Amino acid sequence: MKRQTVLLLGPDRSVISGVATHLNLLFGSALARRFEIEHFQVGSEGRTEGALGLPAYLDRDTNVAALGEAAFGAGRGQPDFVYVTVSTGIGGSIVTDGRLFHGPDGMAGELGHVPVEAEGPVCGCGGRGHLEAVASGIALARDARAAAEAGTSPFLVGRAQTIGTAMLSGRDVAEGEDAGDPACSALMRRARRAIATACVGFVNAFNPHRIIIGGSIADAQGERLLELVRNTVAREAFSRLAAVVEIVPPELGADVSLAGAHPLVSSRLGDPAWRRGGPAPQPTLAAPATDLSVQTPGFGRA
Ligand SMILES: [Zn+2]
Repeated sequence: MKRQTVLLLGPDRSVISGVATHLNLLFGSALARRFEIEHFQVGSEGRTEGALGLPAYLDRDTNVAALGEAAFGAGRGQPDFVYVTVSTGIGGSIVTDGRLFHGPDGMAGELGHVPVEAEGPVCGCGGRGHLEAVASGIALARDARAAAEAGTSPFLVGRAQTIGTAMLSGRDVAEGEDAGDPACSALMRRARRAIATACVGFVNAFNPHRIIIGGSIADAQGERLLELVRNTVAREAFSRLAAVVEIVPPELGADVSLAGAHPLVSSRLGDPAWRRGGPAPQPTLAAPATDLSVQTPGFGRA
């Protein structure tokens, strides 16, 4: 259903790789167990038993990215923040009291699938009017193709003649706005507004002290997006909560999920409930660097 990041640690405790998969991860579920056993030969004790002979730790890519930002980036020193990534899709993560909020079924934090337009487009997940269906790269590409086919955007019609309608992307819509195309401007304004609306909800629902908004589309929009989000939150969220939340870009780049490997493993090693329903992993790795746990209070708590 959603991509997950699988992080493997080498014998010297360096990260070997992060792997994106399409696993609907439910911690401790039969599905997760089967995935682990089939693909990584992870035994029921959560330890690798195959060729690698290494423990593997799994979480959603945006959750691991949030751990990376918490340890090394824009979430440093912030026990309560929301992480949103706006790119091809829209993902998110909720960190509360210094810990990832997984929810009872391990699926909490899918911030791209909060409704922002009650009668909006159908989302890839089957819901309607979700943030991802309005403001993601996939959504903008869909709208770009429709605008080109309907002839409502001279910029996109011209771009489609060059690269083909099927190749139109969210980047083309953003470039169309910069070129002064009214239809592209309307689509980008709608996308930015949807993100801002969602953030008002995040503020009121989770009382974060920081919202980190990253991803390729957000990065390209820069302050044009962040400033709108700040102003919308200031105007529409609970004033007391709006007063204490910062809206900031991430500090880490595209490899942010790999940056989250260390805190992911650190937290799992110290948390006997990391794979709910299963036995606690044996601490076969030496204790992780203590300086990291100092930087990320709470992430190593059992
Ligand atoms: Zn959805």
